[in-house]
Amino acid sequence: STMTVQQEISRSRSDELFEQAKKCFPGGVNSPVRAFKSVEGVPLFIKKGEGCHIWDEDDNQFIDFCCSWGPLILGHNHQAIRESIIEAVSLGTTFGAPTRLENELAELIRKHNPHVEKLRFVSSGTEAVMSAIRLARGFTGRDKILKFEGCYHGHADSLLVKAGSGLVTFGETTSAGVPEAFARETIVAPLNNMEAVKQAFKDHPDEIAAVIIEGIPANNGLLIQEAGYMQELRECCTQHNALLILDEVITGFRLGMDGAAGYYDIRPDLVTYGKVIGGGMPVGCYGGSAEVMGKISPDGPVYQAGTLSGNPVAMAAGIAQLKVLQGNNFYKNLNSKAEEFAASIERFADARNYPLKIQSVGSLFWFAFAAPSPIRAAAEIDPASMGFFKIFHRELLNRGVYLGPSGYEVGFVSAAHSKVELEKAKRAIFEALEI
Ligand code: PLP
Repeated sequence: STMTVQQEISRSRSDELFEQAKKCFPGGVNSPVRAFKSVEGVPLFIKKGEGCHIWDEDDNQFIDFCCSWGPLILGHNHQAIRESIIEAVSLGTTFGAPTRLENELAELIRKHNPHVEKLRFVSSGTEAVMSAIRLARGFTGRDKILKFEGCYHGHADSLLVKAGSGLVTFGETTSAGVPEAFARETIVAPLNNMEAVKQAFKDHPDEIAAVIIEGIPANNGLLIQEAGYMQELRECCTQHNALLILDEVITGFRLGMDGAAGYYDIRPDLVTYGKVIGGGMPVGCYGGSAEVMGKISPDGPVYQAGTLSGNPVAMAAGIAQLKVLQGNNFYKNLNSKAEEFAASIERFADARNYPLKIQSVGSLFWFAFAAPSPIRAAAEIDPASMGFFKIFHRELLNRGVYLGPSGYEVGFVSAAHSKVELEKAKRAIFEALEI
């Protein structure tokens, strides 16, 4: 191909910081994928972000498509969020008592999601899912859960079985340290395969408490499920008196104010949120009907609590973000901008017969190397395609474009990605594809 020579960015400060970090943290990081282990080079240490840009400690500037893995739908350092945080923090950081702000964020969530009658705030997506699973078990009196191959739901024990994100990135999809007895309670089915789900219900009659699925699976590539499948999944759960848990940690307030539930027109029994609802602060939440949520302590027997749950500074950030999102045409504008971005990259690749597809929905996109037709299940991804991603990732960094350092993770477009910046990113992507 027509090799475009591009100088390597300087990484000397990041190198130094990483050496120091390796003495402090396993792999030098506080979350595994950040270590750049599956792509070339060392992790870049980020100094600041503004709009769609980030700067590293060596003063390299990037157009950021990682956006902290999803929370920053308005981009970095958004003025309304920043001001809201400062206002909250000036009144104190935490009280361990109810605040007005919790009600306000809850109402913003409830208003657009009729299936969420009651909810609980927690501090991460992991906690949200872990609590929703416990609640489903407590509500149904059953122990087993059914999850899908490649879906990542955070790092609670029973969900680290055939999971995506960092697990698939490092080639070991089930974590060590999960007791065999816990793993036995987790049934794993392939995505996009209704027969497998029906078979699981047949094999385990009256044992499955819940089926959990990502709103749109986005941790093992972007595995967009068909509406008919999602609706059938809903019916199947109802038929077997199992709860459907829709994990909207990525898709909640990302696809629209009503997330994947709205996108597919399904009514989940329980839903989990994280990322966007926290406006870049640590927040998660789980919710559902008043009946199911009525099992949560102190109303019911399922225990769940948190010192920093509903933290006022985090609530303030989430409120500020959701208020912007519910403005006129917010999602229409964001999604059409992002969809055109993805489509134009695909047109470029198609015209040159490159083995590349961009799977995208709304402002989420994923580069599927070597994909002739839509990939809907984890097993359809050729692990060898990650070799392309490794080169692609480095070439993009050298051209000022930052993607999350794993070919299994999706890209995020924010409202702060202007058309001009998206054009720049596209040119970099076209160049990198020519390598
Ligand atoms: N669920 C989904 C769908 C996720 O993508 C993630 C994180 O990426 C989680 C749960 C866990 O959230 P957190 O990392 O905030 O614990």
